[in-house]
Amino acid sequence: MSKLLIIGCGGVASVAIHKCCQNSEVFTDICIASRTVSKCDALKEKLEGTTKTRITTAQIDAEDEAALVALIREYQPDAVLNVALPYQDLAIMNACLEAGVHYIDTANYEAEDTQDPAFREVYEKRCRELGFTAYFDYSWQWNYQEKFQKAGLTALLGSGFDPGVTSVFTAYALKHYFDEIHTIDILDCNGGDHGYPFATNFNPEINLREVSAPGSYWENGKWVEVPAMSIHREYDFQQVGKKDMYLLHHEEIESLAKNIPGVKRIRFFMTFGQSYLTHMNCLQNVGMLSTEPVEFQGQSIVPIQFLKALLPDPASLGPRTVGKTNIGCIFTGIKDGKEKTLSIYNVCDHQECYKEVGSQAISYTTGVPAMIGAMLVATGVWQKPGVFNLEEFDPDPFMDALNRWGLPWHVEENPVLVD
Ligand code: NDP
Repeated sequence: MSKLLIIGCGGVASVAIHKCCQNSEVFTDICIASRTVSKCDALKEKLEGTTKTRITTAQIDAEDEAALVALIREYQPDAVLNVALPYQDLAIMNACLEAGVHYIDTANYEAEDTQDPAFREVYEKRCRELGFTAYFDYSWQWNYQEKFQKAGLTALLGSGFDPGVTSVFTAYALKHYFDEIHTIDILDCNGGDHGYPFATNFNPEINLREVSAPGSYWENGKWVEVPAMSIHREYDFQQVGKKDMYLLHHEEIESLAKNIPGVKRIRFFMTFGQSYLTHMNCLQNVGMLSTEPVEFQGQSIVPIQFLKALLPDPASLGPRTVGKTNIGCIFTGIKDGKEKTLSIYNVCDHQECYKEVGSQAISYTTGVPAMIGAMLVATGVWQKPGVFNLEEFDPDPFMDALNRWGLPWHVEENPVLVD
């Protein structure tokens, strides 16, 4: 019996909304609010008649905090699910605080204008102090801890797959299989093929900014940064096969390093084909991945935003993508005084996702946990005042919900380790 306000109506949102509508016992009412209201109306039209969930829509610019507060006050949801872009995280958190509702998102804050002097000052200090240079980090949102605590509200950060499910897998491994976890390797494999020479599986701007940034990992209490794509391994993934994967900086490394006591090393690897890497290097070399505006024929253009306009819309990849994803974690550590290794992973089939909700598996594997996080917060199962990452809650209800809502997981003892 919950009412959810969902901000954004892109690839991930569409899956989360489909899943809320399948879960109408919990989500009796949802409001889809986004910048382009016609997309919200089209989805409402598609879903109405297939669900008991009552759907309304609204136009909102999530950066307009006053308008957002007014919308929240008018709709009176139990929680707000932010599946717009990381640029809007802080504005939506501010509005939730002011209007007194819980907050859930899937990606940590990133500044849209990375040249903004106020952002630059904090960013450069963090680069010097922590030693990683990605444009996104948790400090902005962790700074809201006291405000959410005082307001008696929950902010759940990163309820997608990675971060999100990988954080829950870690908490589950620690609760049921280990006394201490020493190393975590997060492996994100997309064995899908969409047939285009180059496309990204989720928002191109966010995706390319993440992938073209230097890689980094956590080891013995500090960050180690390496040039982009400079650490390469091959891994044989269950149900997918052998793939090349590369070490990336990724946001859950930061929260797991803080929240998993005694962890010595955390790395994140993602698979990429040679064609993707060749295209990305070329685009980077010619400046197309830049976030700095350039003047072109009297107009100011941000190269990466222009590139986004040229690339296929990730939402259009669904019907064309075949193959599977395999995303999970490999843990090493100690149980009852003995060394132990374990992996927990999910395999998801692009075409199965498309048949069920009209989206490919990348949107699916993010949208399902977004719905689950919203469900656990809205129903009070995962509520405590403050700002939290998923590994800070009891993993069991989330793990049960993954099995029920389309992302079943496997536990494997003694997996092949990554050297
Ligand atoms: P899309 O670009 O497909 O969708 C973004 C949506 O947000 C669009 O509907 C867009 O509106 C809307 N939006 C953008 N700006 C505003 C604004 N100012 N006000 C209101 N609405 C706005 O992105 P994805 O669905 O691919 O990604 C959504 C989120 O999921 C991102 O934050 C991404 O980083 C995260 N993600 C997380 C993953 C995880 O595993 N944790 C994995 C993949 C993605 P419009 O239609 O007008 O453009």
